[in-house]
Amino acid sequence: MHFVRAKGILSAQNGMNVYRGCTHGCIYCDSRSLCYQMKHDFEDVEVKENAPQLLKEALRRKRQRCMIATGAMCDPYMPCEEQLGITRKCLEVIEAYGFGASFQTKSDLFLRDIELLKSIHHRVKCVVQMTLTTFDEALCRIVEPNVCTTRRRYEALKVCQAEGIPTVVWLTPLLPFLNDTEENLRGILDLCFDAGVKGIIFFSGGGMTLRDGDREYYYAALDRHFPGLKSRYIETYGNCYELPSPNGYRLTKLLHHLCRKNGVMCDNGAIFTDIRQLGESFEQIHLF
Ligand code: SF4
Repeated sequence: MHFVRAKGILSAQNGMNVYRGCTHGCIYCDSRSLCYQMKHDFEDVEVKENAPQLLKEALRRKRQRCMIATGAMCDPYMPCEEQLGITRKCLEVIEAYGFGASFQTKSDLFLRDIELLKSIHHRVKCVVQMTLTTFDEALCRIVEPNVCTTRRRYEALKVCQAEGIPTVVWLTPLLPFLNDTEENLRGILDLCFDAGVKGIIFFSGGGMTLRDGDREYYYAALDRHFPGLKSRYIETYGNCYELPSPNGYRLTKLLHHLCRKNGVMCDNGAIFTDIRQLGESFEQIHLF
C-alpha cells in the first residue's frame, strides 16, 4: 500500500472512498477495469491518509445532515484497515457531527466497530450493506479468495440483527455457469431471511459485466480454476460488456417471489431510497 494526501473526500452524492484498490481478490472485480485509470497496481492500495480530516471539514461545512456512504468502489474493510483504522476514524467523525452512515463490504472486520455503528444508528441511522454471491463455501473461496466466506458474512449479519442495525444484501454478480443456479439463489436467500436482512439488491435478469482489465483477470482465473469455461464465455458473449445469465429471468422471478413471501424488499429503487434517507428506518417505512 502507499499513502497520499487527498484534496477532497466527499462526492456530490455524499459518497467517499478512503482506499483506492483492493486486496480481496474477487475474480470478477469491475473496479480493476482500465477505464478507472488507476495509476498503481490494483493490490497496491492507495490510502487517503488525511480522509478523516477532510471529512471533518466537509461535514462542518454542510448545512443539513445526511447519510454518508462508503464502499461503492473499493471495500472500506480490507485487511489494511485493521492496522490503519481510517474507515473507523471517518465513522468517528460521522458520529461526532451527527450524520448517518452506510457502507458496502464483504468483510466481517466491520464488527470491530459495532459499538460505534450502534451509536450512529441509535442517534441517526446506520445501514450495513453486505455482498453475498455464493452459497457454496468452496466456490466462494475461489471467486472471493482473500476475504471471509459467505458463512462468516452471514454470521456478521446476524450480529447486526441482534444489535438492531439494518442490513441490505447485494446478491450480485451472478456469474454465468458458476453461481447462477436455483440452489445457490435459494441458499443465499435462506441466509438473508434468517438474518433479518431488510432488502436484497439484485439486478433484474442477473449476470455480470466485463470490460478491459477486468476481463483479462477474470478469464485468467477461469483458466486456473475452471478449464474450458473461458471458451464457453467467449462463444456465448464474445466481447460484450453485459453478460446476462441464461437463467437470469427465471432466477429473478424466483427471487421476487421469495422476497415478497418473506417480507423482504427487492425493489432496488426503494432500497436505495431507504439507504439514503435520513432518520427513518426500514421498519418504520415498510412495516405497514
Ligand atoms: S471487494 Fe469489491 S473492490 Fe475488492 S476485489 Fe472484491 S469486487 Fe473488487
